[in-house]
Amino acid sequence: MFRITIALKSICDLSPALLHKYGIKGLLLDLDNTLTTHDNPRPADGVPEWIETMKQNDIKLCIVSNNHPPRVKPFADMLGLPFVSEGKKPLSKGFREAKGRMGLEWNELAVVGDQIFTDVLGANMKRLKCVFVFPIEHETTRFFRFKRKMEIPFLPKKLTEPVEE
Ligand SMILES: [Mg+2]
Repeated sequence: MFRITIALKSICDLSPALLHKYGIKGLLLDLDNTLTTHDNPRPADGVPEWIETMKQNDIKLCIVSNNHPPRVKPFADMLGLPFVSEGKKPLSKGFREAKGRMGLEWNELAVVGDQIFTDVLGANMKRLKCVFVFPIEHETTRFFRFKRKMEIPFLPKKLTEPVEE
């Protein structure tokens, strides 16, 4: 069974207080369907403000995406975030590279993402904390529809309660 530390509807629900409760000081951020929809060059509503809040609270951020540099670099640059592209999740290559840049210990990091078999599995294989966020919108390709169907038994049954600031 998959282990999920925190389950939320949206990344914007991830508060500094919640991160503090779990001892999380840095986030390994998925891009597609976590920070915005697939192929969308602009962040989803609320995401720039959320990133600002994280920065103000000394939470270190690094995008770790399996997507290619032409997709990831302009997006990361626009938000002023470091990034690893072609991260090969669920393998730990991208996480290791990001950790090296962030200067944090493994137990201070959490993987954030919307896919059970890449983000959550990757976090579990490396025994990392894991924040699952539901995908911003469901994909329409046949391959993705299959993957989403396979995820259903493993999706969190309830969301993590917010904590007081
Ligand atoms: Mg994703």
